[in-house]
Amino acid sequence: MKYDIPTQPATSGLRGYLWIIALLAIGCTILFAGLSARSSYMELQDAKTRADAIADFARYLEAGTLISAERGPANSYMAAPDGVRTEYREAWEQATRATDAALADLVAHVPEDLMKSVISRLKGARHLVERAGERPRLERRYGDIQAAIDAMFTAHSDYESVLRWRMSGALQQDPALVDALFKGITLADLREQAGRLGSFVIPPLVTGEPIRSRYILESQQVRGRLLATWMLLEPLAASLTPGSELEQLLEATRQDFFVKGLMLRDQQLGLDATETRPRLDAITFTRQYVALMRPLEQLRTALMEDIRLTQLRRENAAWTGLVQSLILMLTIVGLVVALVLAMQYYIFSPLLDASRAIVALAFDQTPPATRPRRHVAEIRLVHSALAIVAEKLTERRRLTEELHTLATTDGLTGLLNRRTVDDIGHRLALGARSMDVPHLILADLDHFKAINDCFGHPVGDQVLREVAAVLRRSLRAGDHVARYGGEEFAILLEGQTMAETARVARKLRKAVKSLEIETPQGSVIRLTASFGIAGGSLLPWEDIVRRADLALYAAKEAGRDRIRIG
Ligand code: GH3
Ligand code: MG
Ligand code: MG
Repeated sequence: MKYDIPTQPATSGLRGYLWIIALLAIGCTILFAGLSARSSYMELQDAKTRADAIADFARYLEAGTLISAERGPANSYMAAPDGVRTEYREAWEQATRATDAALADLVAHVPEDLMKSVISRLKGARHLVERAGERPRLERRYGDIQAAIDAMFTAHSDYESVLRWRMSGALQQDPALVDALFKGITLADLREQAGRLGSFVIPPLVTGEPIRSRYILESQQVRGRLLATWMLLEPLAASLTPGSELEQLLEATRQDFFVKGLMLRDQQLGLDATETRPRLDAITFTRQYVALMRPLEQLRTALMEDIRLTQLRRENAAWTGLVQSLILMLTIVGLVVALVLAMQYYIFSPLLDASRAIVALAFDQTPPATRPRRHVAEIRLVHSALAIVAEKLTERRRLTEELHTLATTDGLTGLLNRRTVDDIGHRLALGARSMDVPHLILADLDHFKAINDCFGHPVGDQVLREVAAVLRRSLRAGDHVARYGGEEFAILLEGQTMAETARVARKLRKAVKSLEIETPQGSVIRLTASFGIAGGSLLPWEDIVRRADLALYAAKEAGRDRIRIG
C-alpha cells in the first residue's frame, strides 16, 4: 500500500489562518494608530499655526504700542528746557527709529495704501513735534503742541486700520483665534487710550495755561472709552490663576494705572479739587505717567505670550499623542508578530516534528532529527505521548519478530520449519530459470527410534539438536536447513548443480557419521543418516520433494548411510 504523507500542512492550515488574523490585527492597529496619529498631527499643525498667528499678531500690536509709546519722548522733547533740548530730541528720535524698524518689518505684508497712510501721518506728526520742540521753551505755543499731539493720535488711529485688517485676515484663516486677538487688540487699545489721556496734560503743563475746554471734553471721552474698555477686560481676572504673573500684572494695572495714574493726571489738570499737590513739570509728569502705564503694556505682552504658550503646550501634547500612537502601534504590531512567531516556534514546528516522528514510527524508522528547542508544557505532553508510542511500537516489533521466529523455525533445533522451507521451495521453483533451479537434500537419521528406546526421549532430543548444529555448521550461510519431520532434515540449495548438491550431501553424510554425542550418562552415541537428492529440473516443488523422498526411501532400502539421487 502506498501512502501519500504530506510533510507540510496545506496553506490553509491553522498557521495560515493565524497569519491572516495577525495581518488583519496589524492592519487594524496601523489604521487606528494612523487615524489617531493623523488627528494628533492635525492638532499639532493647528496649534503651531495658531501659535505662529498669535506671535505674528503680537508683532503688529507691538508696532502699534511703539507708535503710542513714541508720544512719551515726543512730549518730553516738546516740554524740554532749552539747555537739554538735544538730549530729549535724541531720546525721541531713538523712539521714532524703534517705531520705524517695527513698521519696516511689517511693510512687506501689509496692503500698501494702509501702510503708506500710517507712515505719512507719522511723518507729518513728527514734523509737527519737531516744529513745536525746536522753539525756545517760552515761545512754545499750546496750539502747536496740541496739534503735534493730535497728529500723533491720528497716526495711531490710522495704524488701527492695519490692526483691523490683520485681525480680520487672521480670523478668516482661523476663527478660533478671536478670543486671543480680541484680548490683544483690546489691551493695545487700552494702552493707546491711557497714553492719549496723559497727552492732554502736556500742553497745559508746558505753557502753564489751563486745559482748553474743548480738550476737557475730548479727554473725558477718552477716559470714558478707557474705563469702558477696562470693564470689558475685568472678567478676565476670573480666568486667571491666583498669584500667577498675569493676575499680578492685572492687579498692578488696576492699582498703578487706574488708581495712581489717573489720579496723577487729574491732579496735574487741577481737576481733582480735593488734591492740593503741586503741579509737576511736563517731563516729570511724562516720566511718572509712562512708568504707571508700564503694567498695562506688560499685561498685553504677557497675555499674548501666555496664549502663545498655551498653543505651544497644545503642540507638545499633540507631539506626545503622535509619539504615543506610534509607540502603541509598534508595540501591538511587535506583540502580534512575536505571538505568531512564538506559536510557530513553540506549537506549529513541534507539531510538524511530532507528525514526522509519528509517520517515521509507523514505518518502523527512526524519527528524523529535529532542532533542539525548548518545549512548552502542552507540546512536552505530545512528545511524552510519542515516546510512549515509540516504546510500545518497539515492544510490538520485538513480539512480532518473536512470533515470526516461532512461526518459521523449529522449536527444538532452531532450524527452519517444514512450512518455511516449503514456502521457499515453492517460490524458488516458480521463479526458477534452468540455471538456478533449487536442489533438495532430504536426510533421515538411521534407526533413530533405537536411540530413543535405548537412551530415552531427552537424549533423542539432544541428538536431534546436535545433528542440526552439525548440519548448519557444514553448510554455507545462504543454504536453507530445516527440520522436515521428527528425525528428518531438508536442505535446500539455490543455484547449484546436481553434482555440487551430491558433494554437499556427501559432506553432510560424513559429518553426521563422524559425530560423537556424549549422553549425560557418559555413553557416546554415533549415528548415520540416509540422503535422498532431487532437483535440477524445472519441476514443481511438490514433485521435487516427492522425488527426494523416493530417493531417500531408496537409500534406506539399499541399507542406509548412503545417498541416492531421485
Ligand atoms: P529408519 O532407519 O527406518 O528411519 O528407522 P527409525 O527408527 O529412524 O524410523 P522410525 O520412523 O521407525 O522412528 C522414528 C522415531 O523418531 C520415532 C519417534 O519416536 C522418534 N521421534 C520423532 N520425533 C522425535 C522427537 O522430537 N524427539 C525424539 N526424542 N524422538 C522423536
Ligand atoms: Mg529414521
Ligand atoms: Mg523418519
